[in-house]
Amino acid sequence: MNWLKRARKGIRTWRRKSIPEGLWKKCPSCGEIVYSENLQKNLSVCSNCGNHFRISPDRYLEILFDRGSFEESDPDLSSSDPLKFKDSKKYPGRIKNAQKKTSRKSAVLTGTAELDGNRVALAIMDFSFLGGSMGSVVGEKIARIARKAIEQRIPFLMVSASGGARMQESILSLMQMAKTSAAVNLLEKSKLPFISILTNPTTGGVAASFAFQGDIIIAEPRALIGFAGPRVIKETVGEELPEGFQR
Ligand SMILES: [Zn+2]
Repeated sequence: MNWLKRARKGIRTWRRKSIPEGLWKKCPSCGEIVYSENLQKNLSVCSNCGNHFRISPDRYLEILFDRGSFEESDPDLSSSDPLKFKDSKKYPGRIKNAQKKTSRKSAVLTGTAELDGNRVALAIMDFSFLGGSMGSVVGEKIARIARKAIEQRIPFLMVSASGGARMQESILSLMQMAKTSAAVNLLEKSKLPFISILTNPTTGGVAASFAFQGDIIIAEPRALIGFAGPRVIKETVGEELPEGFQR
């Protein structure tokens, strides 16, 4: 069967060489190679299997809100390092890398925009910024935008994508769960709607606080949603998990 292996390898190299970067994308769910332009038109959803590609906050802005209506809040809030935390790298170095990679200062984009002509307050998390982890800045920005929704008497729409709390901020990160929960609770007291959209993944401290407190909670299909991740649960209970667990 060596000829077959050679032929296959030939096809693979040919594909690799002949697909210009960015023109085509491989669906991480079904493996189909999709044309980027068609993917854009299909709102970044795979036309073959319906998988929602991971997209940036800017792309969510484009898809969900009226063009040119976005006004950003607190774009310059950036994490400090009160605990002088260091694992394999120093925390400030990790922040700097994430800022460079994403061209934003924190793991959440907040502001107001119009949705079919209605102004709403919004927060969109960026998973590519340290796994969308919630440190003091993320928590503070979400709490502030929820309060702005109350001041302006407009609904609040949140798109979550997060691995949970930010370990480098330890207890300060965990405190954000209480802060954000309290802020969205004030929305309820003010009789303003909070719409929570869960994307892949929404786990840990974000799932255990504001993300699950929506008046309406919508999830992208097959998004991983839960508190502890499947690997941790599997190791704890010592059993194979059923297919589609937490999806
Ligand atoms: Zn697919």
